[in-house]
Amino acid sequence: MAIQRVGVMGAGTMGNGIAHVFARCGFSVVLCDVEQRFLDRGLATIAKNLDREVAKSKITAGDKVSTLGRITAVVDRAKLGDCDLVIEAATEKFEIKAEIFRELDRLMKLKPEVILASNTSSISITKIGAMTGRADKVIGMHFFNPVPVMKLVEVIRGLATSQATFETVRELAVKLEKTPVEVNDAPGFVSNRVLMPLLNEAMFAVMEGVATAEAVDEVFKLGMAHPMGPLTLADFIGLDVCLDIMRVLQDGLGDPKYRPCPLLIKMVDAGWLGRKSGRGFYTYS
Ligand code: NAD
Repeated sequence: MAIQRVGVMGAGTMGNGIAHVFARCGFSVVLCDVEQRFLDRGLATIAKNLDREVAKSKITAGDKVSTLGRITAVVDRAKLGDCDLVIEAATEKFEIKAEIFRELDRLMKLKPEVILASNTSSISITKIGAMTGRADKVIGMHFFNPVPVMKLVEVIRGLATSQATFETVRELAVKLEKTPVEVNDAPGFVSNRVLMPLLNEAMFAVMEGVATAEAVDEVFKLGMAHPMGPLTLADFIGLDVCLDIMRVLQDGLGDPKYRPCPLLIKMVDAGWLGRKSGRGFYTYS
C-alpha cells in the first residue's frame, strides 16, 4: 500500500520534528495532541525550523509555505482515521502509549492494513504491539533529535512485527532521506542501551565531585571527538526523558548497573529538565 497520509500523535520535541520531515518530503500529515496550545507550539517550532532551512538555502520560501500547508493540526483523534500510517511520539510512559495504541487500533478497525509505529526511545515494541489486534503491523520507528537534521532511524521489530511491515517502514525512512538501521526489540534498543548509561555515569561523576559538568563535557569533546559532551546532550534530550529511559533499562534488564543517578532523580524532582525548562546541568536563557 502506498503511504500518502501520515498521522503523528504528540506535537512535542519529536512529534513536531517528525511532522516537519514528512510534510517537507511531500506527505500529507495529521498532527494530533491533547490540547490546542501544544499543537500551536509545535506548529510554531516547525515554522521556525523551516525558516532556518530557507536561510541555509536548503529549501525555498515557497517550499516552506507548501510544507506548512500539508500539515493539519487536530485535537480530535478521530481525524486520524483516514491516515495510512500513524507514528506515536507522545510522552515516554507505557500507560500513555498503551492507551493510544488501543485507541488507534479501534479507530482503524476497518483499516487492518494501517501500520502503527512508535517513536519510543526505550519501551518494548512487543508490549506496545500486544495492546492492539494487529501486532504484526506495529513497529518502532525511532527518529533522533533534531529530527530534520539527524540521519538515523532505528527501525525496531517487535516479536510479532511482519517482514512486510518492516520493509514498508524501512522504505519510508529512505523516502524521508534518512538511513534506517534494523534493530531487534530489547530495552533501549541499541541507541539508548549504550548512550543512556554513558550519560548516567557522567552524572555520577558530577555528583561524586570527580569533575564539574563543564570538565566532563570537555573530556568527551576534546578527548573522544564527541560533538557535544554527555551533560550538554542530557540537557538537550531532557532530563525527565533520560530518567524515564534509565528506569526502562533498570526494569527491563534488571542489572543494578542501570540504576538512575540520584542527582538525575533530584534534578527532575526540582523541575530542572534541561534546555526545555531553562535549567539542567547548565542554565539557558
Ligand atoms: P515531549 O514532552 O516534548 O512531547 C510529548 C508530547 O506528547 C506533548 O506535546 C504531550 O502533550 C503529548 N501527549 C502526551 N500524551 C498524549 C496523548 N495521550 N495523546 C497525544 N499526545 C500526547 O516529548 P518528546 O521528547 O517529543 O518525546 C516523545 C517520544 O519520543 C517519547 O517516547 C520519547 O522517548 C521519544 N524520543 C525522544 C527523543 C528526544 O531527544 N527528546 C529522541 C528520540 C525519541
